[in-house]
Amino acid sequence: MTVEKFFREEGYIGGEWLSSSKKIAVTNPANDKTIGHVPDFGREEARAAITAAAKAFPSWRATTADERGKLCRAFYEALMDNQDALGELLTMEQGKPLTEAKGEIAYGAAFFKWFSEEAVRIYGDVIPSPWADKRIVVTKEPVGVVCSITPWNFPNAMIARKAAAALAAGCPIICKPASQTPYSALALGVIADEIGLPKGVFSVITGEAAPIGEEFCDNPSVAKITFTGSTGVGKKLAARAMGNMKRVSMELGGNAPLIIFDDADLDRAVEGAIACKFRNAGQTCVCANRILVQAGIYDAFAEKFAKRVAAMKVGDGMEAGVEQGPMIEEKALEKVEEHISDAVSKGAKVALGGERHKLGGTFFEPTVLTGVTPEMVIAKDETFGPVAPLFKFDSEEDAVRMANDTEFGLASYVYTNDLGRAWRVMEALEYGMVAINEGILSTPVAPFGGVKDSGVGREGSKYGLEDYLNIKYGLFGGL
Ligand code: ADP
Repeated sequence: MTVEKFFREEGYIGGEWLSSSKKIAVTNPANDKTIGHVPDFGREEARAAITAAAKAFPSWRATTADERGKLCRAFYEALMDNQDALGELLTMEQGKPLTEAKGEIAYGAAFFKWFSEEAVRIYGDVIPSPWADKRIVVTKEPVGVVCSITPWNFPNAMIARKAAAALAAGCPIICKPASQTPYSALALGVIADEIGLPKGVFSVITGEAAPIGEEFCDNPSVAKITFTGSTGVGKKLAARAMGNMKRVSMELGGNAPLIIFDDADLDRAVEGAIACKFRNAGQTCVCANRILVQAGIYDAFAEKFAKRVAAMKVGDGMEAGVEQGPMIEEKALEKVEEHISDAVSKGAKVALGGERHKLGGTFFEPTVLTGVTPEMVIAKDETFGPVAPLFKFDSEEDAVRMANDTEFGLASYVYTNDLGRAWRVMEALEYGMVAINEGILSTPVAPFGGVKDSGVGREGSKYGLEDYLNIKYGLFGGL
């Protein structure tokens, strides 16, 4: 299948492809060329999508779990059958290397597969009654119309992990993708249409975030808002949605520590740190933002790590062998530069990189900083770029204290060969996710999510499905 089949420049609302006179231009970050234009919809179209979803809800919730499971499975098959074309489309608008883009399609598809299998396992409960003539049952029901707002760093998977769970639970969903990367979302509309999801059950609305978000939060027909993005926007959305007593799931920013103890396997830690830090050019909320290395292994790690990072190929994600693509936009580069210059002004050393890449545009050199300390901005603020800051610590206690010294609590990583230490540190870290001796932890079968300012709710796994279900208590009396 070709990319053209999935390249749509209209929104998919209530089962119809709709255009608008106002448009948003979408550019390829690798060459700054305009790829095309998508509709710049607003509140009115958001309202229309919600009305269509609300209309579709009664018959969608009435389908059997088996029917919903089969449709989720069909979604999975369609994504995998078109993995190459969808991967190319994703690289074109997002910039990540093609192998990573195809990997994202497979990762997104895996959520549809997982939830196709979970749809038939939405069990209720029978509670032993305290009354001889009464019985108590608990059933689970879909929450209702779900509205999702997603970022540009995973244009397919961030939608897939919300939509697959919503659909399996029996909820219609409306997706508002980031304006930098709408095409991968619209491609999901093409698939929804093709596999025969009922009209209104899956919509994609492109356009201005604030008015669409406001309609999502205010419209009484909406039951739930699910958001992935920055903590600032997440807090605003959550406050507004909760003001109307809607359910919320918030996957927000992180400030992930990657802790390497003296007793770690050095090569494994180097590979893990590379995968964790430089995936998607450092633009993921679970990328290591702070690499904490114990004093005894610090110099050896820094040397090996910098050597390996120096070998990374930077370029257009469509070129073979490229490991790091461009950053999404100029603003992202400026943040990276600010973090580096602040760190250097406070005593950090640039061990590698540190500059805009000679390719120009939004390419940045893979960067390693040594001698980084907690007073620097980079220690507090998510860099979201290809900069690896190396901090030094002495004891296990120090490592845990430094790691927890942040308002965020999403992903964390620990390298050690001491089992007792691994367990102690896992318990002590105030994070929603802890990976021991691994640099990548996302999978549809495990609960993804954070604590503290990193948000509420979980995605993926049996726990992720609960976020789309209401519990109903039924009492049967007069037996
Ligand atoms: P990022 O740094 O990933 O761009 P944002 O939180 O700005 O994080 O964006 C994530 C998503 O939230 C995007 O789809 C964006 O369009 C949307 N967004 C941004 N501002 C608002 C807002 N005020 N209300 C609703 N959605 C918003």
